[in-house]
Amino acid sequence: MTETLYTEEELILKKTIRDFVNIELTPVVAENDRTGNFPSKPIKDLSGLGIYGIGIDESYGGVGGNSQQSSIVVEEIARVCAASSVTYIAHHSLAMYAIHKFGTKEQKKRFLPSMVNATTLGAFCLTEPATGSDAAGIETTATYINNEYLLNGTKTFITNGSIAEIYIVFAKTHQEKGTKGINAIIVDKSKSKGIDTQFLDGKMGLRSSDTSQIFFTDVKVPQENLLGKDGDGFKIAMSVLDSSRISVAAQAVGIAQGALESALSYSKIRKTFGQPISNLQSIQFMLADMSTRINAARLMTRHASQLKDQGFQYTKEASEAKLFASECASYCADKAVQIHGGYGYFQPSYAERAYRDAKVTEIYEGTSEIQRLVIARQILKDA
Ligand SMILES: Cc1cc2nc3c(=O)[nH]c(=O)nc-3n(C[C@H](O)[C@H](O)[C@H](O)COP(=O)(O)OP(=O)(O)OC[C@H]3O[C@@H](n4cnc5c(N)ncnc54)[C@H](O)[C@@H]3O)c2cc1C
Repeated sequence: MTETLYTEEELILKKTIRDFVNIELTPVVAENDRTGNFPSKPIKDLSGLGIYGIGIDESYGGVGGNSQQSSIVVEEIARVCAASSVTYIAHHSLAMYAIHKFGTKEQKKRFLPSMVNATTLGAFCLTEPATGSDAAGIETTATYINNEYLLNGTKTFITNGSIAEIYIVFAKTHQEKGTKGINAIIVDKSKSKGIDTQFLDGKMGLRSSDTSQIFFTDVKVPQENLLGKDGDGFKIAMSVLDSSRISVAAQAVGIAQGALESALSYSKIRKTFGQPISNLQSIQFMLADMSTRINAARLMTRHASQLKDQGFQYTKEASEAKLFASECASYCADKAVQIHGGYGYFQPSYAERAYRDAKVTEIYEGTSEIQRLVIARQILKDA
């Protein structure tokens, strides 16, 4: 099926990423998960494969390409290391995408080239301690004074929050205007005073990724760092999340695929009652259910990418793909643990890590409940 699903060029991309990940991430992933060590070198070295430039114009250092290609990249990284894949998603599918889609030429020239080669990493700063799903309720303020924005507030659960240089920060400028009073502002950490970060310890999964709280205290940002027009921030956030949900769906497919592969190989070597457990119908049925769901999730992800790449509306399909793929990842990780028996309950089994990594795909970039709201709203509107 893979051969008919992908073009020749995409198969080469898939193999290139798989080879890199197998050499650079497979040997260190379990230990990084145990210690929380961030894999800086592989993350930087991945830039040599051009993956941060996918979907970015050549004039800004990119390599062109589309969402189908970045989905392949995300799936292949997540198949081995979900933590590295979320680093990629936050940097590429959220922060870089926001600048590329909504930035001025000058902003793109200023920020994108160093992000393409991963000299600077990006982060997307929407969630706050008191508000996640209800993004319109953010309390961070961007007060406009003398051609500058003065940022005050706290963002939390921000992927790459401590290590990123470039933040896309959502903040309220016009309190009375509701969602139309929100701005999206590019903050260059190296040029700003008043930013503090706090790494958030104790994550269930994705343990070698950076998730942090960011404190903005009277941070001055020049007016030219406004993304889009005054008041466009909420629209920008929703549009970027629509797009990035395809990446989270691909990430979930990758985690599920890794879980299936680990369960398959273990089932062939583990013997009970004198035969490999892969001979048992109950194990075969679990493997069959995993495989079926993964194929469905991958096709849904691919379809959402194709709609996006061809310029069609894709909000519903991106949400459906993210909803289905994330639940598929949790399902497959659960079955992989079951197939591994007691060994699946212990580190450093892939199944144990996948079980912890998969869960968050049902939470971030819109929980499964929020995806159902988005899908229901769309189908009722179209009915
Ligand atoms: C590891 C990790 C990385 C993250 N990275 C980022 C990042 O890079 N940038 C960023 O901005 N955020 C990030 N987040 C935050 C993430 O997007 C939020 O956690 C998520 O949107 C949910 O928000 P919340 O945690 O405030 O939960 P809440 O919004 O408080 O939701 C709590 C529960 O209520 C349900 N609920 C809420 N509203 C409704 C409703 N209207 N109808 C039905 N059910 C509802 C939710 O589904 C959930 O079950 C990250 C989170 C994690 C865990």
